[in-house]
Amino acid sequence: MNRDGRSRTRTYAAGVLALLAFATACGDNGGGGATPAAAKNASAAPQSSGGAAPTAGATTPGAAPAEGDAAAWAKWNLKPLAPAPAPPADKPIKLERAGTVPVFSDVKTSDKVVFITIDDGAEKDPKFVEMLTDLKVPITMFLTKDIVKNDYGYFKPLQALGNHIQNHTVTHPVMSKLSADKQKSEICDDQAALTQQYGTAPLLFRPPFGDGANTPMLNTSVQQCGPRAIVLWRESMQIHDMQYQATDKKLKPGDIILAHFRGPKELKGATMTQMFGELLARIQEQGFSVARLDDYIQPPAS
Ligand SMILES: [Zn+2]
Repeated sequence: MNRDGRSRTRTYAAGVLALLAFATACGDNGGGGATPAAAKNASAAPQSSGGAAPTAGATTPGAAPAEGDAAAWAKWNLKPLAPAPAPPADKPIKLERAGTVPVFSDVKTSDKVVFITIDDGAEKDPKFVEMLTDLKVPITMFLTKDIVKNDYGYFKPLQALGNHIQNHTVTHPVMSKLSADKQKSEICDDQAALTQQYGTAPLLFRPPFGDGANTPMLNTSVQQCGPRAIVLWRESMQIHDMQYQATDKKLKPGDIILAHFRGPKELKGATMTQMFGELLARIQEQGFSVARLDDYIQPPAS
C-alpha cells in the first residue's frame, strides 16, 4: 500500500496562495492545518456514479479523452494534448460494497496519465463549459452543496460531457473538528443533494483540505453516507503552476491533481479558463495526457 514516501514530503509552501485558497473556502494548501492530503496511499478507488449500483454514467470507456481537434485547441491558444491510452481492462482500483473505504492520492498505473479533479464549485464561468466542450478533457468534480446550490445547473453540461460529480460536504468544514454526527450530516446531506440534482450517487468523497482523511471516525462517516472511497491528491494547481508533494516536482503516472473552480478574484486576475489552460500546458510539458479517473476504478459489485 505504501508505495513510497512521496506523501510525507508535502510541502506547504503556500503562503500567499493559501490565503487565496481560503478566500474561496477551498481547500488545498493544508487548510485547517491538519493532514494534508495523503498520508497514506491505500489502494482504493472511487468511481463515480451510483451509490448502490454505480453505473458508468456518461463515461465512454475506451474513448480517447483529451482529444479534440487542432482547431479547437488553437481557439484556446493551446497545443493538442496527446490522447490518453485506452483504459485498463483490469482496473487498478477496485471498490468494495462494504467495510472500510480506501484512501488514495494516486492510481497505480504505468500509463503516462494524470487525473484532474476540480473542487468546491465557486466560480461558474460559462467560458469553462465552452472550453471543456471544445477540448473534451476529462475531469472529476467534487462539489460542496452550499457553494453550488445557487446554480446547480451550471455543472450539468459538464456532467453531460461524461464528467462525474462527487461529494465534498455541505459547508466545507475542517472535518476532524466535528463530532461523528456532524461529519455524517456534512457528507450525507451533500450526498442527498447531489444525487437528487445530478441523478447519480457520488461514489467518491474528498474531505475539505484533505483533513481527517485517514481517521477511523471519518472513514466510518463516509461509509454511512454511501461514497466508497476517499480521494486525495498529489499536486495542487495554483494559478500558473502546480504545487507538488513530491520533492522532485514532477508528475508521476497515475497522479491525481487538485484544482478548483476559481475566478479572477482568487486567481489574481486570471480566469478559470486561463488557469485550466496553464494546467494543461504544465501536464503537456511533462509528456503526460489526462485520463478519466472513472476508467481506472472498478465500482463495487451490485
Ligand atoms: Zn474544497
